[in-house]
Amino acid sequence: MYGRERALELRERYPHASEIMALYVALTRVWESAPPRAPLEWAGKNLLPRVMSATVTSGPPPLAEAMRTAEPGDGPGLLAAWLADEELTPVERYLARATMRVVPLEPGKGGAAGRCPECGGPPQVSFRQASDDPLVSARRMLACAKCPHEWNFSATTCPACGESAKRTVHAEPAAGPARVGRKAPGEASVFPHLRAESCESCHRYLIDVDLGRDPRAVPQVDELAAVPIDLHLADQGYTKITPNLMGF
Ligand SMILES: [Zn+2]
Ligand SMILES: [Zn+2]
Repeated sequence: MYGRERALELRERYPHASEIMALYVALTRVWESAPPRAPLEWAGKNLLPRVMSATVTSGPPPLAEAMRTAEPGDGPGLLAAWLADEELTPVERYLARATMRVVPLEPGKGGAAGRCPECGGPPQVSFRQASDDPLVSARRMLACAKCPHEWNFSATTCPACGESAKRTVHAEPAAGPARVGRKAPGEASVFPHLRAESCESCHRYLIDVDLGRDPRAVPQVDELAAVPIDLHLADQGYTKITPNLMGF
């Protein structure tokens, strides 16, 4: 569940993402320990401490260290603050997101273009299903950063500002964290199924996952492996619409 098999696969395939994927795998076990439709209060009191200890054990060293020295504090209060879009530190944001993964949100706050129709949250990742007809490109879907909802959205419109004419697709900008730049001729694609789509109007971007090129991909998991693309886009002055679970 939660794409654990995929995270194990990517941990082997992408050395640059092995720490992130190891943590993700540990988190899937925490999420599976929660009852279905866990209430927020329960999650804040019971699941948040489990997220903290899984992160101490399995997280990348800086995050594990931050977690080791963090006070558990008011778990439900932290989750409520995150839901209310209050200003949080990166560590608090990580804790809230990793805990909220199993807490269903109240629907009904959606509406704005490019935002989740269920909860009003921003999109985390864009993806396209494999198309049966090679002449028809598949519909673009967006997955919410705040809740499990996924929705269909125009393939040519920026979900951040609604601009539709100033889109740039950044395909394969990076061959690895240490070799950002154009790939050498004949060099195999590192991310054949991942690319970034940026908007020249608002300078925001999203990672797009092409399931036609890699049907085993799990958008929310594969997006976490796109760190070299994120760094490349940051270099070019773009900001992701919303940082992912790991803060990229
Ligand atoms: Zn949502
Ligand atoms: Zn835009």
